[in-house]
This record gives sequence, C-alpha cells and structure tokens, in this order.
Amino acid sequence: MSNNEYQGRITRKRAREHIKIEIEEKIKVSSPVSLNEARIKDEVDAYEVSLDTKETTIGSESNGETVIDETVKVSGAKKTRIKKEVKFEGPPVNWEQVYQSIKEYRLGINAPVDTMGCERLAEQTSRFQTLVALMLSSQTKDQITAEAINNLRQKLPGGLNIQSIIDTDELILDECISKVGFHKQKAKWIKQAAVTCKEEYNGDIPNDIKNLMNLKGVGPKMAYLCMQCAWNINQGIGVDVHVHRITNRLGWCKTKEPEATRKALESWLPKEFWSEINYLLVGFGQTTCKSPYPRCADCPVKGYCPSANTFRQTSKASSNRKRK
Ligand code: SF4
Repeated sequence: MSNNEYQGRITRKRAREHIKIEIEEKIKVSSPVSLNEARIKDEVDAYEVSLDTKETTIGSESNGETVIDETVKVSGAKKTRIKKEVKFEGPPVNWEQVYQSIKEYRLGINAPVDTMGCERLAEQTSRFQTLVALMLSSQTKDQITAEAINNLRQKLPGGLNIQSIIDTDELILDECISKVGFHKQKAKWIKQAAVTCKEEYNGDIPNDIKNLMNLKGVGPKMAYLCMQCAWNINQGIGVDVHVHRITNRLGWCKTKEPEATRKALESWLPKEFWSEINYLLVGFGQTTCKSPYPRCADCPVKGYCPSANTFRQTSKASSNRKRK
C-alpha cells in the first residue's frame, strides 16, 4: 500500500465528502472494537480522509448497528490524524481463574527467574546491586545476568558497590559483563549511575520512579521493579517482554508495546497483584508460554486462552523438533 492508500473498516459516519476510517494496519479490528477482542481502542489510528477515488467491496453486514464488513480503499487522499482514543474497560472475563491457575502451575515448575531473577541476585540490603542487576537484565537471559553480577562481586575490589564501580575502569567493568547484551553501553551507564547515586542520593539509589528513570539505561520496567524489590514500594507493574507477550496472548490487553500494556493492566488488575505478576509470568514465559513457540498443549489455561488454537500446530512442531 502506498503512502496515499489506506485500507480500513468504515464506521459509516459520513459527513459530505469525508469519511472516518479506522486503519487496520497489521491488527484486524472491527468497528466498533469488540470489548472481548480489544480493551484498549488506542491501538487503532483514526484518520479523517478526503476521498478522491474509492473502491468498495461489500462484505456481509453485521447486526444492523454499525457496518463492519465493508472494505474501503482510498487513493490520493489527504490524511489528518484526528485523535488517539484511549479507552480502558473493566477486567477480562475469567481473569481470576486464569491468574490462579497460572499461579498454582508455577508452584510445580522451576524457571530461571526463580533462582536468578534480579531480586534474588542482590545481596540483602544492597539496593544498588538490585539496580545494577536490573540494568544488566534487559535483552539478556537471567543466567547471563547472574554470571555478570557474580563476576562484578568477585573481581571488583571490595565487591559490588557504588564506590567499587566508581573506582574501577570502565573497560574492566565491560570485561566483567561482556556476555550481557549491549555490555559496552551498560558498563558506561552503570558507572554514571554509581556517580549519581553517590553525589545526589547520599550513596543510595533514588527512591522514586521519576528519578530512577532519570538514570541512563533505566526504563519503566526496571524502575517499577526496582521500587518493589529495593524499596518494597508498589507503584506499578514491571512489564517486560514476557508479561507483554503473555497478557496479549491471553486477551487481557491488545497493545503494541510494554508501556501500553502496563497502563492497560493497571486499569483493572487489583494492586495487590502488581508486584507478583512479573515474577509469575516471567517464569511462565520462560517455561511454557514461550516466544515464539508456546507449549499450549501443556498449558493450564489453554481452555481460556484465545491464542491457544493459533499455536497448536506450531507447538507440536516445536516439541517434535525437540525429540529428534
Ligand atoms: S494456551 Fe498457549 S498461548 Fe495461551 S497462555 Fe497457554 S501457552 Fe500461552
């Protein structure tokens, strides 16, 4: 499709030569979006399009409320972004059964996060180690993060702490964490974080989301997890790739990036679950609802999951490959 061609489903709100189109892009949505399919409507960009030419293909009509099966092609049109509508709905049906089933299932399986998650790597009372573990963890497997933290503890004079990081050459820091993703950049950011912590936070780490995120290399996921693990303060959900992927597969949200997922989940998930959901779903994602091949056949919530059928064949192929 060229820049001037759009394809979408119309809402039949025609105002003279103007027609409102919801661009489909990769996600196929109905208009209006079904509450069960999508809880956030902001994933659909709405455009006001002046029609030059159009081709219309009529599909089947729905139950008379709104036409949803009409495909419209517009060419040579001028688009103006109207608005990005954010709409949060209530909790998904059956979420409590699903959550509880995953929780019980997790008790019977061992996942890397259970022993090597960031909150388990830090020595007790060391908030700075928790921060460093989180900074190392992005784009990196838990095992590699654990190894890097161990290296820092053993190779830095006096162990892993703010002063030892400041006193150590960046190249040596980089060597200690060399298997971690983006290690060069992370070595630099960790050094900068140590200086900031010493000079601005009296040798401790920031105790709020905003100032944690002011440290280079610290994003929302790390900041919320850091507040929970280091300060025992629950201010939001730490959404990483596992939480983002699984909650979308479960139909708990329909989002394109983790920050939107965090906001969507926080709109209905009771706060008491905000701390544990990351740990719960990371382990579930590492062992069962994997990317890209979830093991749906073994999944305790396959009966509730709208994505289970999508992956059935892939899952079989995946386990067959393993047996060979
Ligand atoms: S059924 Fe499959 S896709 Fe759905 S949660 Fe379970 S493993 Fe993931």
